[in-house]
Amino acid sequence: MKLTIEQTTELKSLIRSVTDKDTLECDGCFDLMSEYAEAMRSGKQLGSAMLAVKAHIEQCRCCRYEYEALLVALEELETNSQ
Ligand SMILES: [Zn+2]
Repeated sequence: MKLTIEQTTELKSLIRSVTDKDTLECDGCFDLMSEYAEAMRSGKQLGSAMLAVKAHIEQCRCCRYEYEALLVALEELETNSQ
C-alpha cells in the first residue's frame, strides 16, 4: 500500500501532536544534556533549548537514565575535586 501525500501529511501531524512538546531527538538531547545538568545545578533560568531538553528527558526513559547517570558522574567529579 502506498500512502498519498495527504495521508503522509496527516500521519506526520498526528505523530507530532503525540510528541507535542518533545522537539528533540535522543541525539540532540544527549548533545545538550551536560549543559542542561549544569544549568539545573546552578539554578539558572532555563532557555528554550534547555526547556526542550527538560521536556525530552521527562518523556524519554532512555535519556532520563542517561541524565541521572550524568548527575551522579558530575557529583563524583565535584567530590573528587574538593
Ligand atoms: Zn531520548
